Amino acid sequence: MTLSLYNTLTRQKEEFVPLHPGKVGMYSCGPTVYWTASIGNYRATFTADLIRNTLKLLGYEVTAVMNITDVGHLVSDADDGEDKMEKWSKREGLSARDVAKKYETIFKEGMKKLNIDEFDVMPRATEHIPEQIAMVKTLEEKWYTYEVPGDGIYMDTSMVEDYGKLMGPNYKKRLEDLNAGERVDMGGKKHPTDFALWKFSPVGEKRQMEWESPRGIGFPGWHIECSAMSSKYLGDQFDIHHGWADHITIHHPNEIAQSECACGCKPWVKYRVHNEFLQVDGGKMSKSLGNVYSIEDIEKKWYSALDLRYFYFMAQYGNFQNFTWDALEAAKNSRLSLIKMTQWDERPQEGKNILINNLFGKKIIEILSDNINTPKLLAEIYNQLNVHGSAVYPFLRQLEEKILKLGLFEKEETVEIPVEITALADQRIQAKKDKNYTLADELRNQIINQWYQIKDTKDGYEIVKG
Ligand SMILES: [Zn+2]
Repeated sequence: MTLSLYNTLTRQKEEFVPLHPGKVGMYSCGPTVYWTASIGNYRATFTADLIRNTLKLLGYEVTAVMNITDVGHLVSDADDGEDKMEKWSKREGLSARDVAKKYETIFKEGMKKLNIDEFDVMPRATEHIPEQIAMVKTLEEKWYTYEVPGDGIYMDTSMVEDYGKLMGPNYKKRLEDLNAGERVDMGGKKHPTDFALWKFSPVGEKRQMEWESPRGIGFPGWHIECSAMSSKYLGDQFDIHHGWADHITIHHPNEIAQSECACGCKPWVKYRVHNEFLQVDGGKMSKSLGNVYSIEDIEKKWYSALDLRYFYFMAQYGNFQNFTWDALEAAKNSRLSLIKMTQWDERPQEGKNILINNLFGKKIIEILSDNINTPKLLAEIYNQLNVHGSAVYPFLRQLEEKILKLGLFEKEETVEIPVEITALADQRIQAKKDKNYTLADELRNQIINQWYQIKDTKDGYEIVKG
């Protein structure tokens, strides 16, 4: 079964053919670690993981790289403004490096909660400054750059014949429109789309993050790290580059321009895969609306990060997904019912069941191979369980282990019940003895709301998760 992926470069689904048979190199633009990652950021991390896991299920040997941007980006995309890392360093009273360390740890803890394994390499930008300087030097030697005195080294995008091709088949027109509409002060830039490769530290100012370079003390521009680190770990050309749809107009065209000009190879990456935005209540997440939710916010409302994981599966990665608390509640309920459906008595496997599992496996491979259609994947799992019951457990177990990772098949007795929950249950038993049924019901609701179930037994009660 061949995998088809939606390629942003061609704006169509394409059959995936790796550069080297059986092997895949994949790079994802990772988080900037100056703030707690939001559930929107994690949709991108989830997508990267999903693509990797699907490729592995299909039998590919995958090397997956996701960078950690721990060097300060500038607040605006236009290569000016304050440095985010330095700004947040002041806010938190920590050094810029400690801010980065803190939020990288938080980011990786979130990954763990979402059952996302670390990627094979998670390189930090600050640990790859020489590689970035070397790439800028190559671009300079090939005459793709110019210097804006007192500012930095810039990429001259007018020298790149197909600059912006990621914006679609009519990208030249789109760029013209973009440039015509440009009202921003270009500083010393020659063209609106030109971008900084290396920024000089302001004279007389000591930055927390700055490095020596052949062109003076400074820091890298915000696109060069992905180009430099991906070629270090995956070679000059590799198979899949993934990131947010947000990056289709600036960050990714710039990466493509740098890499293709530096290595002289085209295409740098054949398959450009993007996950769409996660909206909240039908709109953009924004700090001013107070709806930039983190995993911690989810947990405060007694949801598990795995409910969020289930929620991500509910939309195909290339489509917008709308987060509401009701939608998360629906995801939680669906996950719980799926968990229950994996707790049935299992009958010994017979010849007929082997056939059922093979057909189930074939169907799932088909669904995943079609641009990783996760809503269809969930529907098919329910369908199979409803029709065949526990007979499909053997394949479902494999799917859980390799793709779903939703906490299915977990034996209830392995779940430790917190003391707060048993305390509520004890109070409920007392309330029942006192014939205070209103209180007993209220306590039961409190237990259920915290994602546990209570069953009455002849000796008292039994609590199970879910
Ligand atoms: Zn990137």
